[in-house]
Amino acid sequence: MESRNNIGVAVRIRPLLQEEVSQGHQVSRISCDQLQQRIIISMPESTQTKIFKFDQVLDQTTSQQDFFESCNLSILISKLLSGFNVTIFAYGQTGSGKTYTMEGYEYDKNLKPIIKVNNENVGVVPRVIKRLFEEIKNNSSNTEYTVYCTYIQVYKERIYDLLNPAQLKPGNPGLKLRWNKLEEFYIDNLFMHACYSPEEVMMHYHSGLKNKIMASHNLNSISSRSHTLFTLTIEALDSESGGILSSKLQLVDLAGSERPSITGNEGIILKESIEINKSLFTLRQVITALSSQREGETVHVPYRDSKLTSILKQSIGGNGFTLMIACLAPSDAYLDENLSTLSYASKAL
Ligand code: ADP
Ligand code: MG
Repeated sequence: MESRNNIGVAVRIRPLLQEEVSQGHQVSRISCDQLQQRIIISMPESTQTKIFKFDQVLDQTTSQQDFFESCNLSILISKLLSGFNVTIFAYGQTGSGKTYTMEGYEYDKNLKPIIKVNNENVGVVPRVIKRLFEEIKNNSSNTEYTVYCTYIQVYKERIYDLLNPAQLKPGNPGLKLRWNKLEEFYIDNLFMHACYSPEEVMMHYHSGLKNKIMASHNLNSISSRSHTLFTLTIEALDSESGGILSSKLQLVDLAGSERPSITGNEGIILKESIEINKSLFTLRQVITALSSQREGETVHVPYRDSKLTSILKQSIGGNGFTLMIACLAPSDAYLDENLSTLSYASKAL
């Protein structure tokens, strides 16, 4: 991912699911040119094709390990340890593979995660945690690293702490977003855990996953409509100079990018629909503004317009590195959603 603006875009197409095969879904319109990193869409009722080019395109045969390697996630981890902020977010319609890519756990029929730590299907988050601690262990400099983690859910412009079950009771209004002296946003009263091993980070991550299920009951939050952010803060202490460098890794599983239907049987009213979309809508604008910015130029980036973008401000602006993973479901039935994801993703480049 060597784009001029430090935003890289990878597209991943998931395989057709068993249930889609039995329902007779067809895959005839989307193809993945892994040599030239292009996605080609043949449009219905015409001979026209649309071609989208990205940093990485990965087809349905891509394993979680291949994905980690193809997107050079190790390089991003090295950047993180040298003091750069890194953001990895998964974008796409509900069912396109965002959670699979980020998390990779299977769920039982009660929607409880089945956690098998060394399973080859684990996704970006467990792999990144493992790799991060390997790098820290191998580092031969005078730097001592401390890793802190937080895990939040943003739902209808409210922030919930997934590591604090007391915060997930019915009727909870969520946590407040505030400013500090450095003019950075921070979340008030958020639980933050210092971790000294990958197992410790994973323990918090897993308890957050379980709390997410509790949140969906208690707060009536619909997981496809909420954003989750698992954040690692790395503090690097130079034992000679005593200087401390701090960097952040944001691992974000976004809400589904489809428009919630206002008239559908889910009974969503217009105001709710706007709130559901606000963070995602603003994130699109922020990424588009950042990627249209030329060197030496300042454009207005509307970070403050939503909770998600306020929280991500420090990480995606400035000299941080961002990887957007655009997820696609291959069936012809999702052609419109796929076109919309592809056209947005190509704007980020
Ligand atoms: P999203 O989070 O975007 O709503 P999910 O990650 O839950 O989508 O994926 C929807 C379904 O597709 C899940 O059953 C998931 O296990 C499956 N799936 C997604 N991506 C892959 C993949 N690359 N390989 C195999 N199964 C996948
Ligand atoms: Mg999901």
